[in-house]
Amino acid sequence: MPTLYRHAAIAHATGPDLVLEQSVLVDGDVIQWLGHDDDASEPGAETDIIDAAGAAIVPGMVDAHSHLTGPGGAQWVTRFDDPTDVLLGVAEDNGESALRAGTRWFRDVGAPRRDDRALSLTVRDAWIGRRDRPYVRAAGTWIAKNDVLPSSICVEAADADALVAAVQQQIDDGADLVKLYLDGPDKDTSPWTAAEIERVTNLAHDQGVAVTAHATVLPGARAGVAGGVDCIEHGSRLDADLVQDMAARGTYVVPTLAVLASWASFGDTTSMERFTDPDNRSTIAERTDVAYESVRLARTAGVKIAAGTDFGGGSARANQMAWEVECLVAAGLEPHEALASATWVGGDLLGEPDAGRVREGGPADFFLVHGNPLSDPSALWRVWRVS
Ligand SMILES: [Zn+2]
Repeated sequence: MPTLYRHAAIAHATGPDLVLEQSVLVDGDVIQWLGHDDDASEPGAETDIIDAAGAAIVPGMVDAHSHLTGPGGAQWVTRFDDPTDVLLGVAEDNGESALRAGTRWFRDVGAPRRDDRALSLTVRDAWIGRRDRPYVRAAGTWIAKNDVLPSSICVEAADADALVAAVQQQIDDGADLVKLYLDGPDKDTSPWTAAEIERVTNLAHDQGVAVTAHATVLPGARAGVAGGVDCIEHGSRLDADLVQDMAARGTYVVPTLAVLASWASFGDTTSMERFTDPDNRSTIAERTDVAYESVRLARTAGVKIAAGTDFGGGSARANQMAWEVECLVAAGLEPHEALASATWVGGDLLGEPDAGRVREGGPADFFLVHGNPLSDPSALWRVWRVS
């Protein structure tokens, strides 16, 4: 049955202003028509009419840094050791709760390997064609230099040849993108040189596969950008030279600021020393300051910033994109810029022109909130309904 939403505002997130008095006709999960209320044709008797007066339509969000098989929370790392059937159940819960909170796309950037394949790829394939789950693009598993990550969750590479082979293996497994881990065993040195990373980016790009890189410190981020990765994940410490280089090359950053905000909250909600110890609390606060400053540098230089919660692989939960948008605003983005990061900029990062956009002829992937998310990101918590 067709559905006609009337009298809504639309937050396209391409500028600071809502478009008012809009009608949207949806049929067959496609936006058949969109325009001013006065220009809408008379609905047929079969049409389900929804009076959306007072609500704002928001494009379905793109969580550009997610780990759909992890539950998040203060013990997010240990949870990855849970049995496979438990993690598959977590993925279903995550998909359901994220969708209800307005997230329509997961860009999954790392899942544990089970039965010789990253679990995220199994979930992605199972969700194809389901309207009640987010669309997924997944990186397979993390690829790290030996002795950086627990070998139970990643693919380890001892040298550059092994790195190249590991990347090809992920692509052969069906990964949509490839995730390198560029924090090294030694934090002052990138685990791979720019030339070694370039071998990987050339190999992947020749096969139409993007490469992204976890980098929370400068050496890995510098080598990754110089080596041609498409995106830096976290980018918690960037400098003025690096952001210039990223802007010139078109390298994205996904800052994942909600991770640090959630750690700060665990100082109150847990008795875990990692979060409660006064020294650790100060370290978290200092890291937050540096991460916010990095976002400001990136914004000023014109780097493309996509929003991601890091849920599952970090401590946020799957239905908390609103928190990430609030953090981006706290770091210095205008609210409409932060919503762009959470919608169509993430779509561009994925190379998906329909993701994060509401337009005639496009998929009916939107949600409705109370309040103006172009001026107040907290409106994103007030989800009324999902299309
Ligand atoms: Zn992550």
